[in-house]
Amino acid sequence: MATETVKIEIHKECKWCGRYFSPDRSNQRYCCQDHQIKANNYRRQYGDDIILKPKKAMCDNMKKISAIARAAREEGMSYGKYVAKYLLPGSNS
Ligand SMILES: [Zn+2]
Repeated sequence: MATETVKIEIHKECKWCGRYFSPDRSNQRYCCQDHQIKANNYRRQYGDDIILKPKKAMCDNMKKISAIARAAREEGMSYGKYVAKYLLPGSNS
């Protein structure tokens, strides 16, 4: 099988989600454009380069979410309604 070409796949770890992917370009750092955009937004927001930090940010979000859920309960609203009323300036979907 000498004619068979062996394609070496380089697996890189996505800086955003930590998933392994085969980059199209050698300097690609994220598994998809979506994660690149998210990482760029993150960096702009926190002024910090991203080293799989969203996982921690997600934990903080979870705390925020439970605080919101509690506040919503106090107002007798569902979480979704509370978020829609107070936290979403306009629906994106
Ligand atoms: Zn990713």
